Amino acid sequence: PPRPAPVLEVAGLARSFGAVRAVAGVSFQVRQGDVVSLIGPNGSGKTTTLNLLGGLLTPDSGEIRLHGRRIERLPAERRAELGIARTFQNGRVFASLPVADNVQVGQYAKLRRTRPFPRLRHLPVLRWIPLLAELLLALVPPPAVRREQSEAAARTEAQLARFGTRLLPRADHRAHTLSYANRRRTEIARALALEPTLLLLDEPTAGMNQTETAEVLEQLLALKAEGQTTVLVEHKIDLVLAVSDRVIVMDEGQVIAAGTPAEVRDDERVVEAYLGR
Ligand code: ADP
Repeated sequence: PPRPAPVLEVAGLARSFGAVRAVAGVSFQVRQGDVVSLIGPNGSGKTTTLNLLGGLLTPDSGEIRLHGRRIERLPAERRAELGIARTFQNGRVFASLPVADNVQVGQYAKLRRTRPFPRLRHLPVLRWIPLLAELLLALVPPPAVRREQSEAAARTEAQLARFGTRLLPRADHRAHTLSYANRRRTEIARALALEPTLLLLDEPTAGMNQTETAEVLEQLLALKAEGQTTVLVEHKIDLVLAVSDRVIVMDEGQVIAAGTPAEVRDDERVVEAYLGR
């Protein structure tokens, strides 16, 4: 069978901060349904790469294509509308919102992809019309909108249920009352609520103990079985080797090796630069 088309194509990506070449000409592809992991020592450019993919940063040079479409100059919210979702290293949630609302927020960008009202940004007066229409809909929801709201609630519940009993019984708890691990799970659930074309995960197991890390591995394997295309930045090499289709090894802003887990595990430069043995 033919190989699936790449969802993501990165070519010659570069970004400096002053004299620091954080990302210095990185190229790779991610195919439909693949989990691709970025590994490498601290400061090797992994998070900067994720920031460039998600739109928190724009590159100095290089191209990023999502399903063939150039996106490297688009702002983060446009990329979210195109289906790129991400999580952050320290678990960013809305502290005063309940868990369920935190997750439901993730559906917003997805709804915008299919929203009934046209974007009228270029006409300053008319741009208020969709907003007013939405306000009216919020005040007096017609049956179709009420149906959509209950479907949204059901989707939120399904995302929470991915984490067993960790989040579901806490759906109404404000996020600031959660444990660290549960805040991170909430953030992942929110990213998944976008039903992302491409999921970007920045160290989902950072600060987690062994049991929690093993749970994350299970959840990543479940997502992979569902065909979720994912770019993962992760330090825990055992998890990386267990879940990845391809591993990209970075050092000083460059890709020094790339391949299947079996290939990179035996690469001398990887052993030297990353595994430290
Ligand atoms: P990693 O995620 O692999 O640890 P980063 O992408 O965070 O690496 O960092 C790569 C390099 O870029 C490091 O030298 C880091 O200090 C630098 N860097 C990252 N972000 C910034 C920034 N906003 N301002 C200045 N330097 C930065």
